[in-house]
Amino acid sequence: MKNLFIFSYFQRLTIVLLFLVLWSCKKTEDTQVPANEDITKAHLLLGNPSNAQANVSMPENYLLERPQFALSYSKSRAIPNWVSWHLSKAWIGSSDRQDDFRPDENLPTDWYAVRTSHYTGSGFDRGHNCPSADRTATVADNSATFLMTNIMPQSPDHNQGVWARLEDYCRTQVEKGNELYIICGSYGSGGTGSNGFASTISEGRIAVPANIWKVIVILPEGKDDLNRITSSTRVIAVNIPNKQGVRNDNWGDYRLSVDDIERRTGLDLLSKVSQSVQNGLESKVDQGGTQ
Ligand code: MN
Ligand code: MN
Repeated sequence: MKNLFIFSYFQRLTIVLLFLVLWSCKKTEDTQVPANEDITKAHLLLGNPSNAQANVSMPENYLLERPQFALSYSKSRAIPNWVSWHLSKAWIGSSDRQDDFRPDENLPTDWYAVRTSHYTGSGFDRGHNCPSADRTATVADNSATFLMTNIMPQSPDHNQGVWARLEDYCRTQVEKGNELYIICGSYGSGGTGSNGFASTISEGRIAVPANIWKVIVILPEGKDDLNRITSSTRVIAVNIPNKQGVRNDNWGDYRLSVDDIERRTGLDLLSKVSQSVQNGLESKVDQGGTQ
């Protein structure tokens, strides 16, 4: 029985203290996690619009989830179907624009790897779905937006004009004390860039979408976001043709209902919101301010 008392009083005290220290470290770690406990899950908190899955047998609806955003990718179009992300103060910082456009190594290796050079001379911008300026808390966050799976061929007037002002408007809402859930996507075939109309670029490998849309859910900063979305939550839905000549347009003039986007794309947006609230929110067209 002597073996049971192999540890001296001092050794036993040391072991107890060690456990206490480890336990308190764990507590500290828990309390440091931001309001949305799992940042990756937050991007799909309001739903996965096409039930995308990280499954190579679903090449037209292939789910990529990263800390900065989640997306559904189309292998044949070589652009995302949609990209979904949470935007709050926590994502905005002072990191510089990295401009490191590059192929996404998280795609299956035998899929066409879109490179920045595939856009060169095409007459279309490398258009971000999740904007660079929405991800400036760290260099890694900003750099993630330059993965080519987040990029689509976007007409320069669209990208640099009307769309850029909508992106700015979203960040202004964050500055005013809100947090946002944003889904951006594109559909249809063919747009007009600075060299004229094209349905594809890069020798037919990359689709040029006809329309680019965005759905924005705006909540005052807080917790338990899904459950505080009500029929009076502001939801902005916009759909703008991917063409030249829209640079100076007001994005507010392109508002439509979420139902309308769902009809055009076949997606189910905001699917995690209770059906009755979803029905009410999705049938309305936003009438709020645009400045
Ligand atoms: Mn852009
Ligand atoms: Mn829906």
